[in-house]
Amino acid sequence: MIKHETEGSAIKDVSVEGVTIDTRKIEEGNLFIPFKGENVDGHRFVEDAINKGAAAALWQKDVPNPPTHLPILIVEDTLIALQELARNYRQQLNVKVLGITGSNGKTTTKDMVASLLGQEFQVQKTEGNFNNHIGLPLTILRLKEETEMAILEMGMSSRGEIEFLSKLAQPDAVIITNIGESHLLDLGSREAIADAKLEIILGLQNEGLIVYHGDEPLLQERLSSYDGNGQLRTFGRSTQNDLYPVEITQTSAGNTFTTNRSGVSFHLPVLGTHNVLNALASMLAAEFFGVSYEKMNGGFASLKLTNMRMELVEGAAGINIINDAYNASPTSMKAAIELISNLDGYERKILVLGDMLELGPLEEKYHYQIGSSLDADKIDYVFTYGKLGAYMAEGAKEVLGEDRVFSYEDKEMISNKIKQLVRPNSTLVLVKASRGMKLEEVVTFLQQK
Ligand code: ATP
Ligand code: MG
Repeated sequence: MIKHETEGSAIKDVSVEGVTIDTRKIEEGNLFIPFKGENVDGHRFVEDAINKGAAAALWQKDVPNPPTHLPILIVEDTLIALQELARNYRQQLNVKVLGITGSNGKTTTKDMVASLLGQEFQVQKTEGNFNNHIGLPLTILRLKEETEMAILEMGMSSRGEIEFLSKLAQPDAVIITNIGESHLLDLGSREAIADAKLEIILGLQNEGLIVYHGDEPLLQERLSSYDGNGQLRTFGRSTQNDLYPVEITQTSAGNTFTTNRSGVSFHLPVLGTHNVLNALASMLAAEFFGVSYEKMNGGFASLKLTNMRMELVEGAAGINIINDAYNASPTSMKAAIELISNLDGYERKILVLGDMLELGPLEEKYHYQIGSSLDADKIDYVFTYGKLGAYMAEGAKEVLGEDRVFSYEDKEMISNKIKQLVRPNSTLVLVKASRGMKLEEVVTFLQQK
């Protein structure tokens, strides 16, 4: 309940349900929170928000002319108010929270663990990629009272951010998917990235669960001296982990795998063995909250991943496309290429790779290495797009030779050239780059006849 005390207003008490920062998404009874953005000041939309059904709005003190005829509450800072509201609401709720961080695989793992926990509980999860200091509080404020489990993605680009999010969300369990190279530019080293991700345990509840990638030495090293009362569980490919895969079979319909824990064979309807790792992390968390192994296949079967992450798409002329244009870092690039390299049943395998952004001073080297580590027996053609992509092409030419590697600055040209190389129903194309490269446009071209 928000008390409305603006002088001269007819409305004295307002009760709100749910919070929104976007007037296009207002639901009846919402609290509208405007931000003073760099380009647009959300306070301009307060009146519109109320007209569209918002019960009340916040107003930041330093913004002039607060409308006296509307149910607004004046606060020092609307962003802090949003975060404080979320903090209070979290404490009132009787919900178990799982927090997920890591360099790659957060959203995927979030979707997987939501499917597994959905077998037993009423689950809500972060929508899309709402994983920062605004998205996370908004997600918490959207939680319904009857929700039993909340699965929250926590992202970051600098130190202290994950600590803030974790302390706000107070998770009962956390997952650290892996440590990669994303945000090297902001943080400087992989060690610093590991430290930043580990901040997630700072908000963990008593006797909570910490699931982490046990094959990552930086995490092992740091957690070997862990002296809190949380339980540590590891997953990974190697047998030193609590949970590891024993046998993985990959097809273009996904992965089938068994684990060291039971003879049960799991089918995961998504591509790439790195997704088996995400699945193992999800299984450890789901197990902690009480989902039995027997029920997990049902969870995996209902899995629906967010778009453009290793999405299998049909192109024209019988091309199978794996659209992974959502983002890219060296770790995820290698994982995706490994996947393509190891899939059987295709006569032609083609990579369309674009720039991996925000890698810092070693960016050219990272790109070159991706190209030079390709297996010439497993990949037939490589197309690169972008300035940094050209370094991948340079590396790729070392192993595949000049005539199988092309560097173009035109997405339609890439698509046209690929169409000439197609073996109908036996061609697999991987499309991957950082979000900013918009490489999904190549997918669109490949779909046109
Ligand atoms: P973001 O920081 O953009 O929120 P995220 O951590 O949520 O990313 P996802 O969206 O799940 O990650 O996956 C992003 C990319 O990472 C995908 O392209 C996928 O190929 C790759 N990826 C997913 N899981 C792993 C993993 N465990 N190891 C390496 N790469 C992975
Ligand atoms: Mg994400």
